[in-house]
Amino acid sequence: MTPKYIFVTGGVTSSLGKGIIAASLAKLLQARGYSVTIQKLDPYINVDPGTLNPYEHGECFVTEDGAETDLDLGHYERFLNIPTSQANNVTTGRIYQYVINQEREGAYLGKTVQVIPHITDEIKRRIKLLGETGEFEIIITEIGGTVGDIESLPYIEAVRQLLWEMKEEDALVIHLTLLPYLSSTKELKTKPTQHSVKMLLESGVQPDILVCRTEHMITKEVRKKIALFCNVDSNAVIEALDVPTIYDVPLMMLKEKLDKTVLAKMKLSAKNEPDMDSWKSFLTRHKNPKHEIRIGLIGKYVELPDAYKSIIEAFIHAGAENESRVRVQYIHSELLAEDNIDKKLADLDGILVAPGFGDRGIEGKITAIKYARENNVPFFGICLGMQMAVIEFARNVIGWKDAHSTEMNSKTKHAVIDMMPDQKKITAKGGTMRLGSYTCEIAKDSKAYKAYEKSKVSERHRHRYEFNSHYQKEFEDNGMLITGVNPETRLAEIVELKNHPYFIGVQFHPEYKSTVLNPHPLFIRFIKAAVTYSQR
Ligand code: GLN
Repeated sequence: MTPKYIFVTGGVTSSLGKGIIAASLAKLLQARGYSVTIQKLDPYINVDPGTLNPYEHGECFVTEDGAETDLDLGHYERFLNIPTSQANNVTTGRIYQYVINQEREGAYLGKTVQVIPHITDEIKRRIKLLGETGEFEIIITEIGGTVGDIESLPYIEAVRQLLWEMKEEDALVIHLTLLPYLSSTKELKTKPTQHSVKMLLESGVQPDILVCRTEHMITKEVRKKIALFCNVDSNAVIEALDVPTIYDVPLMMLKEKLDKTVLAKMKLSAKNEPDMDSWKSFLTRHKNPKHEIRIGLIGKYVELPDAYKSIIEAFIHAGAENESRVRVQYIHSELLAEDNIDKKLADLDGILVAPGFGDRGIEGKITAIKYARENNVPFFGICLGMQMAVIEFARNVIGWKDAHSTEMNSKTKHAVIDMMPDQKKITAKGGTMRLGSYTCEIAKDSKAYKAYEKSKVSERHRHRYEFNSHYQKEFEDNGMLITGVNPETRLAEIVELKNHPYFIGVQFHPEYKSTVLNPHPLFIRFIKAAVTYSQR
């Protein structure tokens, strides 16, 4: 069967939640029995977001195959419960890099290389790649940015060409817009939507469906007006009200019949009513918690919670599993020191030290870990958080006061976290870390094993530095155990404390694998330990 393509564009302003709308539609189509995937096209010139500061676009999400991608791919995976790959995120930088490499190889046979057709052809090729795998019946392509941005133009042109090339029922465009509310006149205003649709039309693209973000219900009259002036059917004006959680959006879209409208336009059968039972039971647990716990998320990008998106979502999944509301307290590691730590962390039921790079705020993280270790507070260290737990232990338990990671201090005598020889040769920053899935073997009688209930797992990585196994014996003799290792390289993947109710550090990023239907075992256990601790 020819795959069907759905393009999602955005108008009026950024941050309307195209990713969540795309993921919600995909979820409904999947629940009706279709195989669906989602792709994000990002108009910036970075080849991938791996080199971007989290303050720019939030977290960098990592796929199984080691692609550093936009955080929307995290939503796709959390909603659909299937992995994405390198092909699911394409940036302008990657498109140009490919075209320029082709040009250097002489592939264009003396032609002038231009935005149209060469860049647009490459965009179209990337869009079709997922369809060619034969794995998916429906491919949803989200175009990043807002219609009217200079940098989005080649993407819109590529969409226009694809719409022209494909049969009418094989491709459609959903445009996400905003209906601002004027409180003085108590009205929802449709003009910005009309303008943004006009702008799309100027590029030759007529949207088929409008999803309208709004704080108030849209009346029949307003729906009719939007339909008339934007040239769409009135059942193709979809209301997207603000809701308490992103996980409500699929059910709201179901009520609005977004999936049915899409299927009808694509001449696809609606099949069965979507099976959303497990989704609904997750929502019921999430909304009716029996416990409430406070977790401190200690990091240096806390001003922008998007920087820790997957961790926050993993808390929601694991919280529901434990019938608990997880209140996340964002704590800036730079503000933590020995003389304020008791006060700052006293109310917490669990401490998570976040991933990160560079030495800003490092000592605060170490102080927080010492507090968690000494006070038996449940602790979870992820990547840099695990590395800091190793350093804290080396300094304060083993007694190597100068212990450090060579990322922060290249001259330390006790480089308990160090770069592996093959990493040392690399100087370029982009795409050169240990990335993607690696196997981890877990020691039987460990806390990690209790969580996973299996001895072999696969987890995603994104880091350069590693636990220095040269020191393994001293750590184990003093009570910090290496309970997870990579079976090929023997690199440490998991550390835990012998005499502590719950103290685990992981070199990998479990948060990337947590989904609504498959909350991550280590997060489930951590929240469970925090619930127990909260009843102290
Ligand atoms: N900066 C550390 C490293 O490169 C940790 C990275 C991370 O937390 N993702 O190894």
